[in-house]
Amino acid sequence: MSKQILLIFTAIIFGSFNSFSNEIIEKDSSKSKTISFKIKLKSADKIKIVVSSLKYNKHFAYSFTLDDGYRSAYLTAFPLLNGGKISNSSINEWKIDQGGDGTTSEGLFYSDGMGNKIPFKLGLAINGASIRDLPENRGHLSWSEVKEMYNAGWDILNHSFHHFTKLGTNFLTEVTENTISIKQNLNFTMSHFVVPGGEGDPNYRYEYENNALENGHFSVASYTGVGPMLKVDSKVNLDKMITARTFVLSSKDTTNFKTMDRFLKTVDSIAKLPNPNWYNEFTHGTGNGNLWNLSMRFPDFKYYMTTLADKYGLKGNDSIWMAPWQEVYEYIWLRDRIKVDFQQKNKEITVTIQLPKIPEMFRNRDISLNIETRSKFEIESSNDLKIKNDGKTNHKLILIQL
Ligand SMILES: [Zn+2]
Repeated sequence: MSKQILLIFTAIIFGSFNSFSNEIIEKDSSKSKTISFKIKLKSADKIKIVVSSLKYNKHFAYSFTLDDGYRSAYLTAFPLLNGGKISNSSINEWKIDQGGDGTTSEGLFYSDGMGNKIPFKLGLAINGASIRDLPENRGHLSWSEVKEMYNAGWDILNHSFHHFTKLGTNFLTEVTENTISIKQNLNFTMSHFVVPGGEGDPNYRYEYENNALENGHFSVASYTGVGPMLKVDSKVNLDKMITARTFVLSSKDTTNFKTMDRFLKTVDSIAKLPNPNWYNEFTHGTGNGNLWNLSMRFPDFKYYMTTLADKYGLKGNDSIWMAPWQEVYEYIWLRDRIKVDFQQKNKEITVTIQLPKIPEMFRNRDISLNIETRSKFEIESSNDLKIKNDGKTNHKLILIQL
C-alpha cells in the first residue's frame, strides 16, 4: 500500500471511529429516574433495607480473565465452567496441546441466594486482528466462539488490535481499531481495557492507559495500579481506574497441585476477611500444554476452578460472586450512585430508588438489596420492574433487574 493510500485509509478509520464515539454519547440517554415498588409484610415487623455491597449479597467477588483470545478458552475453560464436553487433546498450529481431558462437565456454580444456580463466568481480553476461522488447528478463537461465550455472560475486554507493544506502535489506533473490529463483528462496544504485555519501551503502558481511558474505556488493567484486591465495603473510586494485573500460572512441576494450592491460599485469605472484597486474577491459555509458559495447564486450571467451586460455590458455603470484570465493575458503579428510600406503614413499605444516568455500554443494571425483617414478605410492583426476592423463604434478599 502506498503511503498516500494508507493515509486515506487511516483517515477513514479515524473518521468512522469519531462519529462512532459521538453516537455512543448521544445514545447514552437512559436518563436519571426514580423507580418504586411495595413490600407487603406477612406480619407487622420493623424493616431495614440497605443496598448490598455485592450482587446477591455475596461475601466476595472474584474476577478471572483469560488474555489473548486463545482457543483453549472455548475448548476447555468454557465447557468446564458453563457445562459441556471438554475437548480431548488438540495439538494446535504452534504444536502445543490446547485441548483438555475429554470429560463432560456439569458446570461450576454459585447461587443467587434465591434458589437459582449461576455458572462461573470469566472475562476474555481479545485482539481483533487474531480472531479467525482457519486453519482448523488455529491457536486463536473464532468470532462465533467469542460470540457464544459473550452470549453466555462472559465479558469481552479490549486487549489492543494486534497486541503490539514495541517502539513505533500507534497506541491510539491499537485501542480504537480493536473497538471497531469487535463492534463490526459482534455488535457490541467494549468498555474496559487490558494492556497487552510484552517487550517494549518501559513507558509504553502509559500510552495504552491514556489512550484507552480517553477513548471510551472505564478502566485499564495494567502493570501497576490499585488491586488486585479491592475493598468494596464503602464507595469505590472507579473513575478512570487503573488496576494491577496478577497472573495465575502453572509451574514446571506437573506431579502435584502445590503451585495451585499456593494461589488458592491467597484467595482463601481474601474469602475469610470479615468485609466484602473484590479480587481479580489473570492467565493466558487453559489447555493441556503450558502455552508460552504463561498459562495454566488444563489439569491445574480444572483443579483450581473446581476447588473454588467446591469451597465457595453452590457445593460449598456459596459465598463467592464469580463474575467477570465488567459485571462486577458495573454493579459497584450503580450501587454507589443510587439512592434508596423507604417508608413503612404497618405491614406496607414503599421503596423508592433514584437512579443515575446509566452509560449505554453497560451490560448489567442490577441492584441487590439486603432486607432485615423477621417477617416473610411479598413484592407488589405497579410497573414492569423485574424483581426477584426470597420473601417467602429467607426474607433477606431483593434483586431488581433494570
Ligand atoms: Zn496479552
